[in-house]
Amino acid sequence: MDYSTNFSKSTSKKKVVAVVGGGLVGALNACYFAKRGFQVEVFESREDIRQAKIVKGRSINLALSHRGRQALKQVGMEDTIVSKGIPMHSRMIHSLNGTQSPIPYGKKGQYILSVDRANLNKELLSAAETYSNTKLNFAYKLLNWSTETGAMTFLRADGAKEEIQADLIVGCDGAFSAIRKQFLRQSRFNFSQTYIPHGYLELTMPPINGEFAMKPNYLHIWPRNTFMMIALPNLDKTFTCTLFMPFDEFENVTTGDQVIEFFQKYFPDAIPLIGADALKRDYFRLPAQAMVSVKCSPYHLSDKCVLMGDAAHAVVPFYGQGMNAGFEDCLVFNEIMDQLNEDFSAVLPEYTRVRVPDDHAIADLAMYNYVEMRSHVNSKWFLFRKYIDNF
Ligand code: FAD
Repeated sequence: MDYSTNFSKSTSKKKVVAVVGGGLVGALNACYFAKRGFQVEVFESREDIRQAKIVKGRSINLALSHRGRQALKQVGMEDTIVSKGIPMHSRMIHSLNGTQSPIPYGKKGQYILSVDRANLNKELLSAAETYSNTKLNFAYKLLNWSTETGAMTFLRADGAKEEIQADLIVGCDGAFSAIRKQFLRQSRFNFSQTYIPHGYLELTMPPINGEFAMKPNYLHIWPRNTFMMIALPNLDKTFTCTLFMPFDEFENVTTGDQVIEFFQKYFPDAIPLIGADALKRDYFRLPAQAMVSVKCSPYHLSDKCVLMGDAAHAVVPFYGQGMNAGFEDCLVFNEIMDQLNEDFSAVLPEYTRVRVPDDHAIADLAMYNYVEMRSHVNSKWFLFRKYIDNF
């Protein structure tokens, strides 16, 4: 990306846009608003992840697909991100007896990319910061905001509270959005939140003799009826394996020996690749994480506030489309800004009108796939097809 051009193109229109949440969608959104010349203030509750030793996040890597790439392209970030991604041309299905069968994602040359979440977030924050009309505020946690005045109250790292005003508030603060809380008090705001009985945990498969332990250009899948494991490659030649399983089953595995027993029964080929000792240790490193699906409507509140990314639509990860859909939110909003001359009073309702059906469809498809996966436990082939067709 040519950072120098960002400075020269930025002509301040003085309207202040506050992006609350500097995660994947918030950081990308900051680039979009800055490119249009707004005064952009990003408020992120965490410290600057570019300086942090450990970056906590919802998954170590993720699959970037076409819709996400299109959104990155608009702000000149596609090449930067793609150059640090690993193409996955096919799924690689691991059966119980150890045989591996590839199933391509599409035609020859088509692929999705495995990208490092932390690096993607860092790159987007750095890109946003190159615009002279953008300021990144870290360790600013939104506590509340007033729908009457638009004033936001933040808690700073030093324990002080600070009140800030903006012309537009863009809620990109994730599945448990603090911005969205005010929407819940409004009449005719629809909201639903569903936790699924499955949780997930991540394990690392190290390189063997300096090389990937499995073929790198694949999204590896071990489908096993009510649960499954997937693995995506990383640039350091590790794989991140994610085990999805009902919480009840996680609770049945309480000792290192039980972990090995469980893996011997369901994922025997993965034991030597992850390493028995690492498996026994890492399985208990963190508790299994919950997965939630959030749907709401409308996505805007008058001409003052709009929700994007997981704040508007957290989806279960069985389509690998949560971030991609959030990135597409930014792209669609930007197109509507063009069409309606940046008039927030017209742009925000139009964004809700256009975007809610599409995002709800993605949430439904992701949940449908998850339900199918559980309800067809006796039809292995059906389950197998159903799952892999959409991942
Ligand atoms: P988040 O990433 O949650 O970022 C929100 C930000 O807001 C955070 O930085 C947070 O610190 C900040 N914040 C929160 N509260 C406040 C506050 N009060 N004040 C200020 N800041 C605040 N999607 C894909 O497209 N492809 C995949 O392969 C994929 N795999 C996934 C695998 C798993 C296991 C999971 C759980 C999700 C996966 N997703 C995937 C979905 C993806 O992680 C999310 O859709 C994406 O992170 C949404 O980005 P976001 O910026 O909206 O929210």
